[in-house]
Amino acid sequence: MSQCNYYPRADLHCHSNASDGELTPTELVTRAANRQIEVLALTDHDTIAGYGEASSAAAAATPALTLIPGVELSCSWHGQEIHIVGLNFDVNHRSILDLLQKQHERREDRAHRIAQALEKLGLESVLDKVRAIAGGDTITRPHFAELLIREGLVASHETAFKKYLRKGKRGYVTPHWGSIADAVDAIQTSGGIAVLAHPNDYRLSHKWTEKLISEFAECGGKALEVAQCRQTPNQRKRLAELAIQHGLLASQGSDFHFVDGWVDLGKGLHLPDGVSPVWLEWNENR
Ligand code: AMP
Ligand code: MN
Ligand code: MN
Ligand code: MN
Repeated sequence: MSQCNYYPRADLHCHSNASDGELTPTELVTRAANRQIEVLALTDHDTIAGYGEASSAAAAATPALTLIPGVELSCSWHGQEIHIVGLNFDVNHRSILDLLQKQHERREDRAHRIAQALEKLGLESVLDKVRAIAGGDTITRPHFAELLIREGLVASHETAFKKYLRKGKRGYVTPHWGSIADAVDAIQTSGGIAVLAHPNDYRLSHKWTEKLISEFAECGGKALEVAQCRQTPNQRKRLAELAIQHGLLASQGSDFHFVDGWVDLGKGLHLPDGVSPVWLEWNENR
């Protein structure tokens, strides 16, 4: 197969229960293989704890599936939370491991502060309960949303965010994430590719979205997430143009968290003509 025509069924953004996804890494890989995904990256929030299990599942998967190391790092940028996906880095490299350790501490610190804020509403032992819900080491806001449902304060995750967990609400505390430049640097020093995730999900104006993409490219970031499950054809086309304009590679990912009928692994993911897919870069380097 000629390299420029190489177009695998790829999903390079999804979550397992190592962060805020529903499926175990094994269940996720099995679902991906059943959906004929050929290249998968598990990109849990600020952790690679699911990677080992996912690798074993991928090695045994039928049809065959290639698992690419991945992660989704939370960053702060002008008071906004921005997500940088890292792909195909060395999972044993000090640079990425040091940053993941820092992200863990930042998540723990934020979880303590969210728990205190929710206890002011009359809830008890919030952190212990949320830790039990999270199961693993990584506590995310959806775990707090689950607690708010169990305690009878809200009926859905959506309402939990809307009433308590979003910026400006009583359960929101300012996170102390690092910069985009630090995330890009840790991923790429570890041999990977930094991807600016879901550029249309930050509720930024066109002008600020372009400023974000241009600063990301200036600090060395290599790729833009162009194709997602939930976007209009025009949004995808526009992101492809921006990737080309800023000299960025293009990535595609569902951001799958749980089975809901709308978002699924690999669903509707295809890159517009004219962009350079991220996998061309790592195929060349193999
Ligand atoms: P965190 O990284 O801990 O701040 O959690 C962010 C995660 O919360 C996102 O990756 C989504 O999976 C989830 N999320 C964000 N906003 C909402 C919402 N309005 N309703 C449900 N889940 C949400
Ligand atoms: Mn999430
Ligand atoms: Mn995200
Ligand atoms: Mn995600």
